[in-house]
Amino acid sequence: MPPSADFSIHYPLQAEPEPGGCLEIMPGILWLRVPLAGSLAHINLWLLDDGDSWALVDTGLDSQDCRDAWENLSAVVLPDKPVGRIIVTHYHPDHIGLAGYLGDKFQVDLSMTRGTAERARFLLDNKVDDWKEAIEAFCLLHGIKSVNLYTDFITGQRYRKAVSKLPGQIAFIDHEQSLTIGQYAWRPLVARGHAEDHLSLFCPELNLLISGDQILPVITSNVSVHFNNADEDALDEYLASMLRFSQLPEDTLVLPSHGRVFTGLHNRIARINASHERQLTKTYELCATPASAWDMAPRLFERRLDDLNLMLAFGETLAHLTYLQNQGKLKRQFNKETCYFSR
Ligand SMILES: [Zn+2]
Repeated sequence: MPPSADFSIHYPLQAEPEPGGCLEIMPGILWLRVPLAGSLAHINLWLLDDGDSWALVDTGLDSQDCRDAWENLSAVVLPDKPVGRIIVTHYHPDHIGLAGYLGDKFQVDLSMTRGTAERARFLLDNKVDDWKEAIEAFCLLHGIKSVNLYTDFITGQRYRKAVSKLPGQIAFIDHEQSLTIGQYAWRPLVARGHAEDHLSLFCPELNLLISGDQILPVITSNVSVHFNNADEDALDEYLASMLRFSQLPEDTLVLPSHGRVFTGLHNRIARINASHERQLTKTYELCATPASAWDMAPRLFERRLDDLNLMLAFGETLAHLTYLQNQGKLKRQFNKETCYFSR
């Protein structure tokens, strides 16, 4: 059925947990929330009944707030049944930040996609000098003026403050490997575009989708091209992943990482796709005057941007420019070593 024009979604649960709290969605499925600083304010985590223990999906940042929230959750939720394994959806700090810490605390294994582990390890490794020249060349190519800020962002200077060390052993999950958690089978949906090999989990029997950041109810997930994935068409990969999610049942209950549990998956996907279409149109219009990706970012995102949001806006601008170029709608011109996108 085509999505309705109003793109409406529904929030079937009356309540939502407070940051640091917990709510049972249905028997064996618990919704946890831990606080985050900044506009996101929280991340949702999930506990899935795994027989004698719980499988935990995502962890929160390695911050004092999140560690305190876990102290409370451990006392309130876990006295009768421990966490038996930790699954991480993707490498972003709010999802993987406490995985190493909680893995140690609960003495359990971590599971994630290989892409998640590799990207997190790269950022945790702190090999800035190995990449300095290549990053400077990338900054010159795309007109990035804040080279030091960009280097800190892309090599993990910020990341290491929010992510605890990962253990040597990690169990990898891939898209072909169904996971049995308790009495249910969960199908991994591995997607790119928001993050390398982002993991979502769908349980056909329960008609539940743990969507991670791939599909959120209110905000659209950042889709970026950066130094580390400069050869990719991240937006094309992200939109292609949406086709796979749109094959799930319309009445799937979606458990997102931020915001509330919702139904209306197909409408939400249509709305996200429409938002990228609008950004693509605006990007194309702005290219009437040739510009570097860095110079175009504040024109595409017309709001005050702090350092982190400026990096995200730059990456998303480059993702839209790259997509249009691959569609044959934009060209790259060079002035010395800097690339200007034009019609
Ligand atoms: Zn994310």
